[in-house]
Amino acid sequence: MDSESNLLERHNSTNDLNDAEVEVKTTASTKFGMDALGHATADAVTTTTATMRGTNRIGSGSDEVEEDIFEEVKMILRKRRGWGPEDSLSANDLGLLEYDDELGEEDDAGCPLPSTPEDTQLIEAEVWEASWKVCHYKNLPKWLQDNDFLHRGHRPPLPSFRACFKSIFRVHTETGNIWTHLLGCIAFIGVAAYFISRPSVEIQTQEKIVFGAFFIGAIVCLGFSFAFHTLSCHSVEMGRLFSKLDYCGIALLIMGSFVPWLYYGFYCHYQPKVIYLSVVCVLGVLSIVVSLWDKFSEPGLRPLRAGVFMSFGLSGVIPAVHYSIMEGWFSQMSRASLGWLILMGLLYITGALLYALRVPERWFPGKFDIWGQSHQIFHILVIAAAFVHYHGISEMAMYRVMYSECTVPIEPITF
Ligand SMILES: [Zn+2]
Repeated sequence: MDSESNLLERHNSTNDLNDAEVEVKTTASTKFGMDALGHATADAVTTTTATMRGTNRIGSGSDEVEEDIFEEVKMILRKRRGWGPEDSLSANDLGLLEYDDELGEEDDAGCPLPSTPEDTQLIEAEVWEASWKVCHYKNLPKWLQDNDFLHRGHRPPLPSFRACFKSIFRVHTETGNIWTHLLGCIAFIGVAAYFISRPSVEIQTQEKIVFGAFFIGAIVCLGFSFAFHTLSCHSVEMGRLFSKLDYCGIALLIMGSFVPWLYYGFYCHYQPKVIYLSVVCVLGVLSIVVSLWDKFSEPGLRPLRAGVFMSFGLSGVIPAVHYSIMEGWFSQMSRASLGWLILMGLLYITGALLYALRVPERWFPGKFDIWGQSHQIFHILVIAAAFVHYHGISEMAMYRVMYSECTVPIEPITF
């Protein structure tokens, strides 16, 4: 654009360019120059101005000025928009640049972060990692735009694992999501360690293996979820990889939850137990395969994702009804197991519905950006449901171990 070419013209007309200036100028024009359509970005103009000022001062012969130029360039690097060269500006992004002007102070126009690896050579890692600021949804690159009902407080792309992990301690739209499942994961690791370390006279090895399937499902699910929410802003590739792992984790939690329930529910009925466990494995593998499909994580497919996992979970209604008919609807064992199972189902269904509908932020866009958004409620409900399930299967196990000697001989599988 005109402003930049004017500045460059003035720059070129300066006779006493030395090496330092050339270096700074090159940095400025390669990193900040023109966008694809020849429009100068605000950063480019500022940088060129800084270079000009540096040129004049160097011309006057001061050695300290060279330092100043680099300081200025560093400052500008820190303030620059935070996506890498691979995210070339599109017509849509140009619209966003215009939008920047309309944003108030708190919106902090742009995603200010030096995001290309070569920037780290100019700026120390510590400064680089601390330099980013939260940004508006409209200033996010396309691959980070997920929920348009959350307006402010988004992390910009942070293409370093260290910066992503450090962002755990900053306040942004993912803080609540990260901490809910990090704490949930730690809690389940604690419960699992306690359970597994009990002496075998108290809890038999067989019980530990059956409960172990549930613990693995819960820990892997919450752990992958924590990792996804922490690293989703790293890059397109990492975001995609960890979102797939996040969905696989949900499938594993559902599979792991079925194992002890079917084991204790059909304690003395070998055939239905094996059949149901096989069906659960097949459904689990199917949902993992669907999760690995690239398009599955697209924002528009949110209802499909909720639907896949909800129907997988709700397929448990079939063995539950079978079990109740077999055991008697109002037997002590039925009441113990079904009550908790129904509560768990309600928690999961509520969570999945809130997730799919994006309530409450849908009703009050921009009001739940940091705390109280649907995804955080969904996370808390998942943890609550997992603990309810743990309590339910513990009661079932206790009942079976104390009262239930299998009176009928183990049935052979007949087809
Ligand atoms: Zn999540």
